[in-house]
Amino acid sequence: MSAKLQSVKGMNDLLPAQSPYWQFIEQVLREIAAAYAYDEIRTPVLEKTALFVQSIGEQTDIVEKEMFAFEDTGGEFLCMRPECTASVVRAGVQHGLFHNTQTRLWYMGPMFRRERPQKGRYRQFSQFGMEAIGWPGAEADVEVMLAGARIWKALGVKDVHLYLNSLGSDACRVRYRAALVDYLAQHFDALDADSRRRLDSNPLRILDSKNPGTRLILENAPVINDYLDDVSNDHFSQVCSLLDSADIAYTIDSSLVRGLDYYTSTVFEWKTGKLGAQNTVCAGGRYDDLVERRGGRSTPACGFAMGMERLVELLIEENNTLEIKPLDIWFITLDDAANNAAFPLAETLRDSGLTVAMNHGVGKLKSQLKKADVSGAKFALILGQAELEQGLVQVKPLRGQFESQDVVFGNVLDVINS
Ligand code: ATP
Ligand code: MG
Repeated sequence: MSAKLQSVKGMNDLLPAQSPYWQFIEQVLREIAAAYAYDEIRTPVLEKTALFVQSIGEQTDIVEKEMFAFEDTGGEFLCMRPECTASVVRAGVQHGLFHNTQTRLWYMGPMFRRERPQKGRYRQFSQFGMEAIGWPGAEADVEVMLAGARIWKALGVKDVHLYLNSLGSDACRVRYRAALVDYLAQHFDALDADSRRRLDSNPLRILDSKNPGTRLILENAPVINDYLDDVSNDHFSQVCSLLDSADIAYTIDSSLVRGLDYYTSTVFEWKTGKLGAQNTVCAGGRYDDLVERRGGRSTPACGFAMGMERLVELLIEENNTLEIKPLDIWFITLDDAANNAAFPLAETLRDSGLTVAMNHGVGKLKSQLKKADVSGAKFALILGQAELEQGLVQVKPLRGQFESQDVVFGNVLDVINS
């Protein structure tokens, strides 16, 4: 026997036992996207590396160390997409989707980041995202937050809370950045190594540090909220008041900065208390400059990305049992002639919307019935020589609805639905 090959580290198989959770979540997400009038967009998994370097920012975790980037045999620098907002904007600009119009888009699919695998953090993972492109006002920010709230409700997950902040305009951020660097430089020796390195390259990201020493210093650091200009302040207070009137609870968190460079103005995260360290299930905000930076006309935009593995984990963690529709029929045949006759009959039943598993091959009745039982099917159909000669099939309820009975082929559906 040759050696077994394993899957790539951090890239998981999704086995049948988990599939019902995924199908349920995917269905809820599609329905909710439709309820808010968002249209689906699917972009390729591979993009030019430059797209992400230029959109997400060179000094970010994703670009510095998490991308699966390579030179292909044609000498092009390509990258497995680590996120999808940059791709959506690239596609929209490329196909003129944003010209003189406002666009609501959603996407769902695998993303790739070369992170240290752990619970809630994988190298291939799935995101669902909604992007509202072309609206400058707070309504769009709140619309995507409301969609988030509706998603938690539809999934039946309770322990999820909204945190938000404003990063203001470029000008606000430049002034705040200077004040923050000034303050942190005074405490340089007490900062952790990562934060020291970021002091020059990406100081706002230090606010996100989990290091206890750094966190202590951050307690007295200047906060961005004191540096917002009037326009940014107005926008943010409108977001808050629209959330108030929609009865969505939220917490303003002045240390919330997000890791990606393209964010401006509103940023937000939905967090849960249930998943340990990987507690952010959805993150987003405005990216008013990105369309223009990707070669389009200046177009305001906002959206979010939701980590679907974390949603599955949350569903399981909160013990949400799914109602899984059982198989209707397990079809048992006792000889070759019956086996042949069973095929067209099974097709007719499937035409009527029933789910039918054929046993395949002719085995002992007892062992076939055992398989039928394990499958969870509601009925076994049993076809042997005696039944076949009379044009009958035995309908055997497996969950105790009524006694077995012989039924003419054409009446099976009626008996099962009765
Ligand atoms: P984190 O701080 O957890 O690394 P992030 O800031 O890198 O998150 P985003 O790029 O904003 O996350 O992605 C949005 C969401 O996608 C996250 O909130 C999370 O739910 C999910 N996500 C991100 N990276 C991973 C991963 N490696 N594995 C599973 N889910 C992920
Ligand atoms: Mg990350």
